[in-house]
Amino acid sequence: MVYSYTQISQYLRCPRSYRYRYLDGWREKDTRAAMVFGRCFEQALSAYFHRQDPAAALFKEWGAYRDAALDYPKGHSWDKTLHQGVHLLHKFAQDDRIHIRQPKKNLQLKMTQSLANGAEFVAYIDAIGELDGERYLIDWKTTTSRYSQEPAGLLALDPQLVCYSWISGISEVALVVFVRKNWPEIQYLKASIAEEQRKEFGELVHSAVEQIESGRFLPHSGIRFPQNGCTSCSHLGLCLNNQPLIDTNLIRRPGASDLDWLDELVD
Ligand code: SF4
Repeated sequence: MVYSYTQISQYLRCPRSYRYRYLDGWREKDTRAAMVFGRCFEQALSAYFHRQDPAAALFKEWGAYRDAALDYPKGHSWDKTLHQGVHLLHKFAQDDRIHIRQPKKNLQLKMTQSLANGAEFVAYIDAIGELDGERYLIDWKTTTSRYSQEPAGLLALDPQLVCYSWISGISEVALVVFVRKNWPEIQYLKASIAEEQRKEFGELVHSAVEQIESGRFLPHSGIRFPQNGCTSCSHLGLCLNNQPLIDTNLIRRPGASDLDWLDELVD
């Protein structure tokens, strides 16, 4: 059995949702424009570090979805998303704060960690490189709203960064946030993950895997703020036995968990 950050975080959010997705094969339909654009933007960044034209790479990748029936947030469109992406790529090149040596080796690095009972944890690290001349493990995110930086040290509590620090053993991590808003912005956020946090994350993974392998999938339902997870859950139709909602949001594709790490590219 292979586990990823997305799997563990989905189990911790709601074990029933985990069962629907990873055991029964109910996946959210890939129609979220933000998710698809995040993957295309990742390809454009890769082109940038390989000294190719990133805007052309973005146009090529995103161009494949020009006429696709994607779900855009209010006020967004294919054109607008493309322009924001190109603007962000220009700004990224102008800033010139990140350098990746040997991009073939240091982009999209696969890292693994053995777990009990022959299971394995797999993570794909976006990059290991230099930010402002210092070595960092780097995670890219595309989003439509800025990440909060206050109070100081908040970023070190991001579980995905803690996970990547745990699996790589690298304490200095950075989140590069490409904010697609009217005036696009890039946030270069740095954090230091402590040894204790890495150890605790390892324990969290082991305990979640133990529960998964014992077949414990009780629902963590919630509809009231702030634990209102059901209202945005793609598996809501299954819990409500509502066929139209199932047909709208889900597709059944057993055994498709090998690509779930792609969800980690965007918010
Ligand atoms: S709708 Fe609620 S209870 Fe059902 S899987 Fe989703 S989060 Fe869990």
